[in-house]
Amino acid sequence: METVLKTLDEVEELAAGVLSAHGCDAENAASVAATMRAAERDGSASHGLFRLPGHVALLKAKVVNGHAKPTLEPLAPSALRVRGDDGFAPRALAVGVPALTEMARAQGVAALALTRVVHYAALWPEAEALAEQGLVAIACTSSPPYVAAAGGRRPVFGTNPMAFAWPRPGRAPMVWDQASAAMARGEVMLHAREGHAVPETAGIDADGRPTTDPNAILKGGAQLPFGGYKGAAIALMVDLLAGPLLGEVTSLEAGASASVGGPQLGGQFVLAIDPAKMGGDATRAEALFSALLAEEGVRLPGDRRLANRGRTPVEGVAVPVSLLREIDAL
Ligand code: NDP
Repeated sequence: METVLKTLDEVEELAAGVLSAHGCDAENAASVAATMRAAERDGSASHGLFRLPGHVALLKAKVVNGHAKPTLEPLAPSALRVRGDDGFAPRALAVGVPALTEMARAQGVAALALTRVVHYAALWPEAEALAEQGLVAIACTSSPPYVAAAGGRRPVFGTNPMAFAWPRPGRAPMVWDQASAAMARGEVMLHAREGHAVPETAGIDADGRPTTDPNAILKGGAQLPFGGYKGAAIALMVDLLAGPLLGEVTSLEAGASASVGGPQLGGQFVLAIDPAKMGGDATRAEALFSALLAEEGVRLPGDRRLANRGRTPVEGVAVPVSLLREIDAL
């Protein structure tokens, strides 16, 4: 695959420019572009520039409000809501995460309901931002139905990702961030784009048969949850936390009203816990992390991203020429 090296500044400028040209105001464009930069910086290619054409499609179809002005409202002493005003999630998170941090410090535990947002990014940035403030964080969001239930054939769950972050003294937090599908949709799309097969566990074709063809999964088939019924149970939990718990849509409901592909308006649930207020001590995790890492072949979740983070600000990131052409055409 032919690629071109871009600096992170170039990535962010490109993203902000394209988003502005398609109806985002400066604040919304900057929030989304910064999130794409972070994805490219950490080697989360499936949520970097690769998603720019999808963002433009959502703006053009007027699914997303490029001028969103999210509003913050307390719901209870330890619960708050940010109404996303139909915008992309990074803008609403910029409003909600600082307020959630403050509330979690005051109350010990605090939850944030993000409503009427399109979450088209990885979840680790918001979980990490909370853990950088010394909090333990859990974040999850649902998306239109792409994933079959255990034993089912038709897509009923979104790829429903969930992230968990743990603060570490003097270093970046430990964060895992994973779809409850065996493979993130972006990865299936990337494999289709690059003509690569996917593992047989990734999905089924329109007849319900396991397939390694990403196009068969994307066109009429369904993705599969990771780990069979166990992953399906996580997908169900995410659907409920990011949907009915917040007065928001389930994956099925989001899919039913979709006028254009990709993620739709919906909710995000974020929980923040202050270890000091739970009688705990986050630094005690260090002994466990060391014990895990003492075994050959073991790494902590997030270590791949952090290694990329050390490299890309100097080396830049390789962006596929085909993607740059597609973005140019926008
Ligand atoms: P991966 O399967 O690539 O990785 C899941 C997690 O496992 C990561 O934290 C990863 O860390 C960690 N990990 C991977 N290999 C190992 C290992 N050998 N040892 C320890 N930890 C490991 O992620 P997914 O494909 O499931 O999801 C990709 C992204 O897609 C996520 O960021 C998710 O938020 C996003 N997504 C967003 C959606 C949305 O609607 N907004 C929908 C679905 C997914 P590391 O990164 O360091 O490899």
